[in-house]
Formats: sequence, C-alpha cells, structure tokens
Amino acid sequence: MDPFGRQIDYLRISVTDRCNERCLYCMPEGYKGWESKPDHLTAEEIIRVVRAATALGFRKFRLTGGEPLVRGDVPEIVRAMTGIAGVETVALSTNGTKLALLAQPLRDAGLRTVNVSLDALDPGIYHRVTGGDVAKVLAGIRAAVAAGFECVKLNCVLMRGVNEHELWPLVLFAAEHGLPLRFIELMPLTTTEVLTEKNFLPCGEAMRLLAQKDELIPQPDRKLGHGPAKYYLLKQTGALVGFIGALTNQHFCDSCNKMRLTADGRIRPCLGNHVEVDLRTVLRHGAADGALRELLEMALRLKPQEHQFRNQYQPCRPMTAIGG
Ligand code: SAM
Repeated sequence: MDPFGRQIDYLRISVTDRCNERCLYCMPEGYKGWESKPDHLTAEEIIRVVRAATALGFRKFRLTGGEPLVRGDVPEIVRAMTGIAGVETVALSTNGTKLALLAQPLRDAGLRTVNVSLDALDPGIYHRVTGGDVAKVLAGIRAAVAAGFECVKLNCVLMRGVNEHELWPLVLFAAEHGLPLRFIELMPLTTTEVLTEKNFLPCGEAMRLLAQKDELIPQPDRKLGHGPAKYYLLKQTGALVGFIGALTNQHFCDSCNKMRLTADGRIRPCLGNHVEVDLRTVLRHGAADGALRELLEMALRLKPQEHQFRNQYQPCRPMTAIGG
C-alpha cells in the first residue's frame, strides 16, 4: 500500500533508453543524453530487483524502454523473471519493429502479453510520427498473434493535426484482427512544447470522432491488463477501444497501481513527478536483499497522490530515459 491506500503491485521496467524509432512526442529532436551502456542495469541486476519487488508483493511486471527489443537479452530476462516465485505476469511494450523475429522466442520464454505502439496505418503518417516503417510493425503484430500471446494490444498516441484521421482506420484494423486498441492522450514527457493546444487531442474529442462512425457502448467492468484505460465496445465493428486520459481524467491517479524502474536503476514512483530513488548504487556495492527492499519501500512511501502534468510540469528527464 502507498500512503494514499493504493495497492501498488505493478512494476514497469525500462531495460534500455535506446530506441530504433524517433517518435515526435517521445524523444526530443537532436537528443544526445544517452546513458552510457555500463550504467544500464544488467540482466542479473534487473532480476535481483524483481525478486526484491516480489518479496514486497509486486506481482505484475512489464518490460519497456526506449525500445526493449533493441536489447539482445530480453528473452533471457523474461525467462528468468517467469521463474521467480510471486511473478504472476510478465508483459512487454514494444514498437513492434523487431517482433517478427522475436515474438515466438519471447512467447516460448514465458511472456504473456504484448502491447504494440501503432500511431497510424498510413505509411507516410506513420513515418512522420516515428521515423519508421509501418510494414515492419504490421509484420510484428502478425507474428505476435501467430505466437499465441494471451493478449496483443495496440496503443495509439492522440495528436491533433497528425493522426486524427487515422483513428477510424485503426479501429477497423483492430476489429479485423480482434485486437484491443487504446488511445493515449499526449503527455509532456520530452519538452513542454510537445503538449500544446495545437497538437493535444483529448480522449473526449477522439470519442466524439469515433461516435460519428459507430456507437460506443461503455464497458465499465472491462479490465484488460493492469492499466488505467476505460473501455468501450463499438457496436457495429465489434472493436474494443480503450481511452487513457492522463490529462483530462481528473481521477486518473486514483487507481494507480504502478512504479517504474529506469534503465539506469532508479525507482520512479510516478511518471509525472521527478522523485526517484537510486537502486543501482546499492546493487553495485554488494548490498543485501534487505537493503534493496528498504529502498523499494522508501520509493513507495514517496509515491505522490497524483502526477504533475497539469501543473506546468517540466519534463527534465525525457520519456526515453525514464521508460514508458
Ligand atoms: N518502445 C516501446 C513502444 O513503442 O511501445 C516502449 C516504450 S514507449 C515510451 C511506451 C509507450 O509510451 C508507447 O505507447 C508510446 O506511444 C508512449 N508514449 C511515449 N511518449 C509519450 C507521450 N509524450 N505521451 C503519451 N504517450 C507517450
């Protein structure tokens, strides 16, 4: 429990700050603030943190980044994590570009669910947002479905003037493949300019756009995974669509259940608050597991009641350094 009575049992682990794409909203143009590789936690260090976390009651884990799959040892990390008593689920967030080759090895290693970022289906718009090639992502999604994960979800960040005309094609794609699709409000995670009136598209408006095409039936009891999405079923298409309104939902943080581990070994209790607790120093100075657990408990006590995104939040460390 954190000081506000929320049960925190979900740890999102960034395994790298590197990424093979350059999303407009995630990595500032010309970003050079990479951590040196030796500063990244090793697989063994990550596993030690997971063990300490499970001893405190953490049950759900997600590997993320940067792009986790640019790191070669992710299947081994997954395999080791799934062998730890107390670990209920290991999930992955990825841009999907490397999934075509890695989906099956990851499934075989015990990975249960995969979230794939897909901001547009149109190759030109996808490239404009990410700098990447949507064909690779689509091949990755097909491979993930074929590999038999328990759930493959699609994530799309909402951007006015960039991808609002892609929302409906994405819904049709999700319906065709039977994959839940979530729309995420833009958060100020790189520079404050990311979030302007001009490019912020609230969930409410996205819902109104979709409602012009199909009826949205609320699914208040629908819970997929461990996140804060609110789900709707689209009556005609049958698509299941979730909305993650970090900025416009005033109760967004009420049900928060997570903390983050950054690639350089710091616990970040809240994405939208600068408080971090360094674990790496302790990990690299031969401390016992008890010391790790104490630091995790300290981070839990420092978890704020809500994020600061609505209060002129200054990102400082960009998303790629913190982990999504
Ligand atoms: N590379 C992986 C991926 O593409 O999913 C994992 C890391 S990425 C940082 C995790 C998620 O954060 C993605 O769905 C991405 O779209 C989202 N994200 C990144 N920056 C964001 C921002 N400024 N606002 C909202 N979501 C953001």
